[in-house]
Amino acid sequence: MPINTQLQTRSNNICELCSSTDENLTAYAVPPKTDESADNQVVLCSNCFNQISNSNYTDTNHWRCLTGSIWSEVPAVQALSYKILTKLNSEDWAAETLESVFLEEPVIDWANAEDNIAASKVVHKDSFGVVLETGDTVILTQNLNVKGANFIAPKGTTVRKIRLVPDNAEQIEGKIEGDTIVILTKYVRKSV
Ligand SMILES: [Zn+2]
Repeated sequence: MPINTQLQTRSNNICELCSSTDENLTAYAVPPKTDESADNQVVLCSNCFNQISNSNYTDTNHWRCLTGSIWSEVPAVQALSYKILTKLNSEDWAAETLESVFLEEPVIDWANAEDNIAASKVVHKDSFGVVLETGDTVILTQNLNVKGANFIAPKGTTVRKIRLVPDNAEQIEGKIEGDTIVILTKYVRKSV
């Protein structure tokens, strides 16, 4: 989306992340915001915009520009810089920058919002509605016919170190008698 006069003035017509001058500067609303209010938008060059649109942050040298942009006074620029830095957290310079910067809580919440929304879509709960996490121990609440392995795991069987099936809130994986099997969350309760 083209940048309006307010954004032109604020950005000085350069990319607010990497300071590059570009004929095709774009106004980018920092998710989960989608509107055209300048407060929610960052002016990006086509290079930054393409990498962000593709969620491709492998060009770590390019993203060193964030060590500067994170100090911007514009909350949208802070939030976007913070968000990308957290994805580069394995780089020492990115981790150090995240540690040294102080941002208001709403800005950090904004930066993390998209990832949190994605994560919150899949929540694994046991038969009593208790949230399950990877590494938990669960107990079977009924006899389970283990398909393929040809045995029945009796009610009361303890399954340690479960793993959550990432894209299916109804399923976990665990080992029973040496076999890793998929277990439905509605047939287990979390062991405390
Ligand atoms: Zn840029």
